[in-house]
Amino acid sequence: VFVRSQHNYYEYDGFTLGTYCRIVVSSKKGSKSLAEIMFDEMDRIYKKYNLNDENSFLSKINTSKDWVDLDEETFVLLDAAVKFSEITSGAFDPALGNLIELWGFNKIAEHSPETVPSKFDIAETLKKSGVRNVELDRNTRRIRLLNGVKLDLGGIAKGYALDRAYQIAKEIDPECTGFVEAGGDIRILGPKFGSRPWVVGVKDPRKADSVVTYLYLTEGAVATSGDYERYFILDNVRYHHILSPETGYPAQGAQSATVVAKDAVTADALSTAAFVMAKDWEYVVLEYPKFGGSVLIITEDGSVCRSPSMRVYEQAK
Ligand code: ADP
Ligand code: MG
Ligand code: MG
Repeated sequence: VFVRSQHNYYEYDGFTLGTYCRIVVSSKKGSKSLAEIMFDEMDRIYKKYNLNDENSFLSKINTSKDWVDLDEETFVLLDAAVKFSEITSGAFDPALGNLIELWGFNKIAEHSPETVPSKFDIAETLKKSGVRNVELDRNTRRIRLLNGVKLDLGGIAKGYALDRAYQIAKEIDPECTGFVEAGGDIRILGPKFGSRPWVVGVKDPRKADSVVTYLYLTEGAVATSGDYERYFILDNVRYHHILSPETGYPAQGAQSATVVAKDAVTADALSTAAFVMAKDWEYVVLEYPKFGGSVLIITEDGSVCRSPSMRVYEQAK
């Protein structure tokens, strides 16, 4: 996903959350300083939940065998992650850390593994995976991980960071407009020039620089999960980083799933889940709007299917 038309806006480009991040903002309170504050907030979240840093808070949770006290934002984020897992019938699963490590997809964006784990290793690692091994005590706001399971928030943390960037910007200047983007996921701050929609292209997963459709957004968020950013091909099979919690293998059925929602956490979590459940695309496009997101799926044969409500965003205003 990419965005066109950003004239007269301050543009800040940075690297955080393991990906490229772009902030395009216009504020009477100072566009440049606002962009920097937003970036720092996203980077704070990245560092807190970065699994490549053994000292991050999420790594601490993962290595503890006992109950861990959660701060307010981590509790809210994990509570949301568990709820998205429930409403998507387990397609979104925040506790696949061991599987993702086994496949090697936890490395930085540019790096891809080139080997397929053995069936035996996948079966063994599946036993140490899955949200059923997560105990979240909502009264005491503590978490305990069972059977060596590890959390991986790669399917939702980017959305959370985008929402935090949005919130911190709006606290400083409720009238600021623009958008913030990380690795193709986007949170809109407000309409371009105060009235015009931002135009978001949904990439063709198999044709570089080609777009399948455009989304016209003045608010809310959009996220895409695809098999074309982090993957490797071996013996004509494409292995990518979005795993089926049932099989432990990369989920089959889609090239990409795009979700428009009111906030980026919802868009992020639902796009990952929609990708996983894409074989049931008829169910997904009709039912996911009840969870708060309009869905557009490009299935493995390249056909496009969408929620009826997605058409609203595809009409130029
Ligand atoms: P992207 O990071 O490319 O935007 P996603 O939002 O779909 O794509 O997140 C993919 C990441 O989510 C993976 O790299 C991994 O960390 C994690 N993940 C993989 N499979 C699942 C799943 N079934 N449920 C939740 N998170 C997953
Ligand atoms: Mg996601
Ligand atoms: Mg995403």
